[in-house]
Amino acid sequence: MKIRMLGCGGSFGSPLAWNRNGNIDINNNNNFRTRSSILINTDNTNILIDTSPDLRQQLYKAQCTRIDAVLFTHIHSDHTAGLPDMRAMSLINDKIIPAYMPDNMKNDILSHYKFIFKGDKDYKPFMKICSLNNFFSINNIKIETFKHNHGSIDVQTYKINNFAYSTDLKKFYNNDLDKLKNLDLWIVGLLRDEPHPSHAGFDQIMEYINYIKPKKTIFTHMTALLDEKKLSSKIPKNIIVGYDGFEINI
Ligand SMILES: [Zn+2]
Ligand SMILES: [Zn+2]
Repeated sequence: MKIRMLGCGGSFGSPLAWNRNGNIDINNNNNFRTRSSILINTDNTNILIDTSPDLRQQLYKAQCTRIDAVLFTHIHSDHTAGLPDMRAMSLINDKIIPAYMPDNMKNDILSHYKFIFKGDKDYKPFMKICSLNNFFSINNIKIETFKHNHGSIDVQTYKINNFAYSTDLKKFYNNDLDKLKNLDLWIVGLLRDEPHPSHAGFDQIMEYINYIKPKKTIFTHMTALLDEKKLSSKIPKNIIVGYDGFEINI
């Protein structure tokens, strides 16, 4: 399984705007972050998690010309606003692309992006909405999903074999964290050092890592308050500060 971080920025991307560099060194390209999403390639299947507003550029850079399915974590626009860009993937492959999402996203997605799922005048639909079960398969790939808390809403964690992706994470429910024990790789959202009403801070994320002990952890969804080199210097070697275009085989 190959995983590519298409983007690893928070909802604004990083830096915030011209001359709004936060704490990052702008001479380090790895600090330039587009909005968060990942591309998973396994068994000849390309699965995209989230459609960030930067999707077109991200897929171009990844030289990706086919998406077999999209998994959505939650409705926030930094994770969904690239949906119209999926039209090119549909046209190139002459395929209606399945979009898996939790039930509580469906109405909003349909009202924001009706033309994508229902078509509009001369334009045919190019995606279809699929329901999520806790366990489901795409081709032969088995996927597990469960909700975690993101302030006032919930977000899906996705797990494929010994890999899991948990972005926009405030806290886990009940004993769900135990489902992430013994991972080879955990990609987890770290917005900034300080806790945020909808995102856990650095200390809490480190507590989770120390509890589940993944072989490797990669941070994603980072604001311009987090500089790659400064953050790297205070974490163990098996935790990596993600950057756009980072690829890993597990
Ligand atoms: Zn987000
Ligand atoms: Zn969010």
